[in-house]
Amino acid sequence: AKDMGKNCFHFFDRHMNSNVQEHMQIVSDLRKALKNDEFVLYYQPQIDLTTSTVIGAEALIRWIHPEKGLIPPNLFIPHAESSGLIIDIGRWALDRAVCDCKNWQLQGFDLTVAVNISPKQFRRSDIQSVVQKALEIHGLEANQLELEITESLLVDDTQELNNTLKYLTNMGVKISIDDFGTGYSNLGYLKKLEVGTLKIDQSFIQKIQQDPQDQAIVTAIIQMASSLNLKTIAEGVEHETTKNLLAGLQCDQGQGYLWAKPLPNDEFLTFIRKRAEM
Ligand code: C2E
Ligand code: CA
Ligand code: CA
Ligand code: CA
Repeated sequence: AKDMGKNCFHFFDRHMNSNVQEHMQIVSDLRKALKNDEFVLYYQPQIDLTTSTVIGAEALIRWIHPEKGLIPPNLFIPHAESSGLIIDIGRWALDRAVCDCKNWQLQGFDLTVAVNISPKQFRRSDIQSVVQKALEIHGLEANQLELEITESLLVDDTQELNNTLKYLTNMGVKISIDDFGTGYSNLGYLKKLEVGTLKIDQSFIQKIQQDPQDQAIVTAIIQMASSLNLKTIAEGVEHETTKNLLAGLQCDQGQGYLWAKPLPNDEFLTFIRKRAEM
């Protein structure tokens, strides 16, 4: 038994070491990636369920690794977050998204752009000026920018966080709560006037036809949002029947493979041009 314990310890130790090494390697690669401009933003259209028009897009980051090719965010954002590199990567993403949105506008498409802001990035004291500068540099109106934050951020109800939210919304920037329903049960923060949109997590949307419980949850979220004067957007909409069901429940907007996967900027422009001709 003693030997086994020893082996276990060794195995565990080695395993941990390799995880740490892997993390360090990824962080070092991420640093290079920033320097070498290896990140790109893809855009996924957001659709008004009443008018069926594209009203905006969510910016979703990808890493085009020189050897490994396209790496999805789930594989590197956690490493960026824990190392603090998310501050620089997030600032890059915000700036690029604002720049691209301005370009859509110059081509005749008045759309909003939604940018994911990690908790670490949002808690930084310079987030207001980072947002303001990006808007100024590219000449985009604040009300065309939406920041997607998570419930976990709003749980620590500090004065500083409230001030940041107030400052941004006073500027005209919109705030939405990403992955709504998966986080915390304390909903007190919804009384804050600063939150504008609840983004219903795709885990409730994907099986909504077959699963009466999912449907009950989504119905309740939409009703609650409506009485609190909040908008709702459903993510992960893959089927026409899902869209119709959501429209029937008075969900405001949808996003998902039914309309389009996240697209590189040029393909996104092609997509909105085609829809404008429809
Ligand atoms: P998220 O913000 O919840 O984004 C939604 C994810 O669902 C995206 O995955 C999107 O591609 C995927 N998706 C959209 N429609 C459908 C659908 O109909 N069916 C299915 N099965 N999936 C759909 P993606 O692009 O891999 O992003 C994963 C996560 O990475 C995001 O989740 C977000 O948390 C994070 N992320 C992406 N870009 C950024 C960024 O610039 N900054 C930060 N901090 N996080 C980011
Ligand atoms: Ca998001
Ligand atoms: Ca989400
Ligand atoms: Ca998510």
